[in-house]
Amino acid sequence: MEKPKAWIISVGNELLIGRTINTNAAWLGRKLTFLGFEVERIVTVPDNIEDIAEEVKRAVERAKIVITTGGLGPTYDDRTLEGVAKALSLELAVNDDALEMVRRFYNAKGLELTPHRVKMAMLPRGARPLKNPIGAAPGALLKVGGSMIISLPGVPSEMKAMFEAEVEPVLKEVAPRLEVVECTIRVHGVPESSLAPIIDKAHKASERVYIKSHPEGYETGNPIITIKALASAENKPKAIEEAMRSLKYIVDGARKLGASISEEGCS
Ligand code: ATP
Repeated sequence: MEKPKAWIISVGNELLIGRTINTNAAWLGRKLTFLGFEVERIVTVPDNIEDIAEEVKRAVERAKIVITTGGLGPTYDDRTLEGVAKALSLELAVNDDALEMVRRFYNAKGLELTPHRVKMAMLPRGARPLKNPIGAAPGALLKVGGSMIISLPGVPSEMKAMFEAEVEPVLKEVAPRLEVVECTIRVHGVPESSLAPIIDKAHKASERVYIKSHPEGYETGNPIITIKALASAENKPKAIEEAMRSLKYIVDGARKLGASISEEGCS
């Protein structure tokens, strides 16, 4: 079964200059993969309307789910929703529900609405605001054609809280009915290059299993290689069976080469 594709677009100059590590994309990549989507691209763009619009346009042509992070705040460089609106030729306008969310957030702190605060309630027309359980800026969810564009904040705690409360339930509705599991083994005492032909064969044997070797330490001397098999199937026991079948092939081959193996289980 072909999995629906997802793109993650990370917005922020601070990501490109290396000041901030893109932990949001890694976290979302795991989440989307285990929900049954195929994450096809993670793209990082500067805080610039044209760059954001260009990638959103490309993304909606190919992906069912497009998630942006960052650039929802009150400052001049928070341009994500302008970029989304431009990509889809939509107007950006104050959304009444979003304005109410922003008003409530500041009222609770005895603060008035200012133009910079109202800016956070401006969404592309047709978008639904997503509640921010921690911060001020609402997110946005927009359906266009067969795609869903979801804009989340940049601050990781806000991004995660909004994803889990507002986005995950929606994605579960459109995700394929698949269980995804990842099983891990560690191979001690054999260089990765000696295991390579065995890993290649295991990889070719099943389309539903993605195998990745992660060498730790040295190629020779005392090599340790962690091997992960990611499998999807109609139910969890079947997914585990698929992953373990591929790993067993590697275990048998590695033992013949004199390796010792530790099994780390499945998650
Ligand atoms: P807010 O709505 O809370 O103002 P925002 O949506 O405007 O946030 P940004 O201003 O783009 O988000 O980012 C806020 C901070 O979040 C950044 O300074 C950075 O520390 C962190 N951040 C942004 N993007 C990422 C990312 N992809 N991974 C990890 N941290 C990030």
